[in-house]
Amino acid sequence: MENKTIDRLKKCFKARNIDFHYFENKTELVLSIVEAAKKADSIGIGNSQTLKKLKIFETVSEYCQHVYDKTLAGSKEEEVKLKRQALLTDLYITSSNAITADGKIINVDHSGNRVAAMTFGPRQVIIIIGENKLTENEQEGILRSLKVATPLNARRAKYSPPCTQNRPCAECLQNQRVCNYLSIIRGQVHPQRMSVMMLKGNYGY
Ligand code: SF4
Repeated sequence: MENKTIDRLKKCFKARNIDFHYFENKTELVLSIVEAAKKADSIGIGNSQTLKKLKIFETVSEYCQHVYDKTLAGSKEEEVKLKRQALLTDLYITSSNAITADGKIINVDHSGNRVAAMTFGPRQVIIIIGENKLTENEQEGILRSLKVATPLNARRAKYSPPCTQNRPCAECLQNQRVCNYLSIIRGQVHPQRMSVMMLKGNYGY
């Protein structure tokens, strides 16, 4: 990514009380995550293919005793418990479906735990995102979230709404809908709460 694009993103996010960092390689990014994990008594993990690929749960678990990741639940009850525990952590680490060139963060969510934690609860939030998720504006970010991320997420979770079969989504049945929540983060009240860490290359969807 060109330096002028990075500088522009930093400026746009800063104006919204959000930190933005760009990493050329994943080792540097993981070292930043380790530093944050060392200061946290509890960490929540928001389900993400990007985090899985970077082995974020495994890494932070070496430095923090209380790490809540719902994807490791053995039952539906435990999954709900882990989602609820993650809401009041010191640090919540997740990814996002899109960011915009003017510094907004866009997410589509199935049960809402991820967008809830990003919005309020955890003291600090880190969003790890590949540069493939940078979009020009809010409309493009929403389109990316609904047209690219949603069908792929649905397939991964073994749902089969119309968008997974290249059909229009107007008649999606509720028991197949994985896009119940659409969130646009336009800023933070508290500076230093939220950081976006963008990694060079393509990660997740
Ligand atoms: S409403 Fe259904 S078909 Fe449309 S994007 Fe959402 S999950 Fe896909």
